[in-house]
Parts: sequence; C-alpha cells; structure tokens
Amino acid sequence: MSEKKRPLLDELKKGPWPSFVNEMEKEAKSPMTEDALNLLERSFNDKMVHWKHGGIVGVTGYGGGVIGRYTDLPEEFPEVKEFHTVRVNQPSGWFYTSDALRQLSDIWEKYGSGLTNFHGATGDAVFLGTKTEYLQKCFNELSSNGWDLGGSGSNLRTPSACVGPARCNSACFDTLDLCHNLTNHYQDELHRPSFPYKFKIKISGCANDCVSAIARADLSIIGTWRDAIRIDQEAVKEYADNGYEIQELVVDKCPTGACTFDADAKEFAVDNENCVRCMHCINKMSKALRVGKEGGATILIGGKATIVQSAFLSWVIVPFMKLDKEDDYEELKDLIERIFEWWDENAKVRERVGELIYRKGMRVFLKEVGLEPKPQMVQHPRANPYFFWWPDEIIQTADGEAAAGTEVEK
Ligand code: SF4
Ligand code: SF4
Repeated sequence: MSEKKRPLLDELKKGPWPSFVNEMEKEAKSPMTEDALNLLERSFNDKMVHWKHGGIVGVTGYGGGVIGRYTDLPEEFPEVKEFHTVRVNQPSGWFYTSDALRQLSDIWEKYGSGLTNFHGATGDAVFLGTKTEYLQKCFNELSSNGWDLGGSGSNLRTPSACVGPARCNSACFDTLDLCHNLTNHYQDELHRPSFPYKFKIKISGCANDCVSAIARADLSIIGTWRDAIRIDQEAVKEYADNGYEIQELVVDKCPTGACTFDADAKEFAVDNENCVRCMHCINKMSKALRVGKEGGATILIGGKATIVQSAFLSWVIVPFMKLDKEDDYEELKDLIERIFEWWDENAKVRERVGELIYRKGMRVFLKEVGLEPKPQMVQHPRANPYFFWWPDEIIQTADGEAAAGTEVEK
C-alpha cells in the first residue's frame, strides 16, 4: 500500500467502477510504481504533467519499439527518473495462452515496474516503466522466447486485426492470417523508421469494424462480400413467431431501403444491388442472416486523429479486393508499396498520408499510385461544376484550338 498520503488519487478510487489507482497500488510493492503514483499525485497538485521526453533510447538493431520517458523531478522521484515504455508486438487478434501471459509478466517483473497496458491504441502489449540499463536485457529475453517489439516513431506501426474467423461468423476473410503475414513481411518498415511519420494498418473482418480501422488507420482493410446476403428463411420465421419486430427494427433502419419483410409469408428479402453491406440487418438477425460467401475487403486510405489537419475518416480507394491466402496477398502488398513510395516522396515531415492526399488532392493520389477512379470513392456530391483535364489529355486540333481528350480524368 501507499507509503505517502495521496488524497487526490484516493478520490479516483471512489465509486463502483474500476480504478487504475487501485490496480497500480496492487503493484506498488515495486518502488517504481510507488514513485509513479507519487509523481501523479504531485502532477494533480501542480496542475501540470511531470513527464518529459528525453534522449533517444532503444535496443540494438531497432529504431523503434521503445519510448523514452523521464520525469523532470528526478531528485524528488528517483525511481522514475527513467521510466521507459516497451511495446511488444501482440499476436494476431490478441490471442495468448495463459503460459504466454505468465512468461511476459515474469520478464517484465524482472526488468521493469511490472505495470502493463493490455493493449495500447496501436494494438501492442505495452510495458510501462523501465530503466535504460534494463532495456537490452529485457529485449534479449523477450526475443529469445519468440517475442518481438512493435513499432513506434516514424515507421509502420504494429498492424492489428479483429478476432475474425477465430470467433466470429461475420468475417469475410482471414483477418488473423493477413495481419500475421503483413507483420512478418514488413519487418524492416516496422523496426527501422524511415517514413515521414507513422503509418497504421488495421484490419476488420466486416463493416462492424471492431478495431475502428476507419477512424484510426492510415490504411484500413475492412471485410465485405460481393454476392448475396445468405438468408435462412426458417430462422426468419422463428424471429417473427417470437414477436421480433423485423419491420421496425431491421427493415425501417436499412440505410438504403434494400431489404423488405413480407409479414404474411414471414419472408425476408434483400435487393443485393442496392445493399451497401452496412451489417445492420445481419447484426439484428444474426441467426437468420449471414454475410455472402464471396468475401474480400474494401481498402480505404487516410484515417487519423487530429494533428496537422483535423480528424479524418478513411476514404475508399479499392471497393473490393479478394484476399486469398494462396496468392500471398500480392495485390494488396503491391498497392501498399506504391502508397509508401508516393507518400515518402511527397510528404512533409510529420504529414500523414491522409493529410498529404488532402493537400494534393485525391485525383493526384489515384493517378500517381495507379488506381482507377470508381464511383464508390465519392466522399460527397460534387460542388465544383468544372471538369479539369490533365495537360496530356488535351489534343491540339489542326486550327490550333484545344479539344478535350476522350479519356475520363485519372
Ligand atoms: Fe466479427 Fe466483423 Fe467484429 Fe471482425 S469486425 S470481430 S468480423 S463483427
Ligand atoms: Fe440494408 Fe445494411 Fe442489410 Fe444491406 S446490410 S440490406 S444495407 S441493412
């Protein structure tokens, strides 16, 4: 328990909800955790943060994965004079055996404060608080047991995926396998920062988007299907017989009016041409409806939180891509590499790919990474009535007048 009195932190232990202060105090036998709590109390009193970034710290051969953290009050709180964070690359879908969790905990109690965050926003298992002298030893032990560090800094951040087919009927492709494959394929980009800024890849098996890829990832890979929603009419009847309000709860809330329910015949139908694969009807009647058999993913670009520009949701760049394991995801990797290249060559320092597209225009992005414009890429109805041609599409006629080419804009 606490050695010092911490009246402000004690306030955070009140109420019926879990308290991080209680959880940290369980670990307070570690002097680092005790000092971290005392420093937090001091920060609340002073109304200012007493953490600061300091010099670069890391482990041999890696440019990321460790975030240097120091206090600006080292004399008063010597145990957190250095309090670095270590990001450990999580398994796909966050599946651990209990042995694996024990192993991680043992390593961290040996070399760090014992405090962890399962998991950070990027997806990694986050180990909070160690000293510079223990970093390499900690990494060596993690590495010799088959673990690796995740990404930090201006590099590819650790890809993450929803649990997908391991536990969920709605997965339109194997999110876990894709995440594992991309993580292994992009080891260099993950561990050796060489990008203008961070780049996140997040993978959801369907439009429910359980990893919030659309809001948080520079490249969002979100499952969808191109055939028809599978309907089990017997199960639909069961819903209706049990008094479930199919019309009110499902049909009336379909965003495109693509589904109908015949209350007399107790039959449900979907106009698949007009269905936008939003998942609403499937979520509401999961025993009767299922995603189609021909699964794949929509690829989107540019999601991120506010920094240089405001927060962006990501924008469709490929409406449908098959993601078969057998072809080793070649088409997707090829696209990712073209995006990396264009972003790397054109971005300012700390400019995310979405911000670069915002500055240069989607039209330029599509042309330069070799993607055809598609109707699904429309962000909102056109406000500018003028059509601009690329210079090489303007044909000079014999009398010297310019005539527009026949190609659509790219
Ligand atoms: Fe299931 Fe879709 Fe959520 Fe993935 S995103 S866990 S497939 S509901
Ligand atoms: Fe309508 Fe969405 Fe169901 Fe398609 S998935 S039919 S758009 S509710």
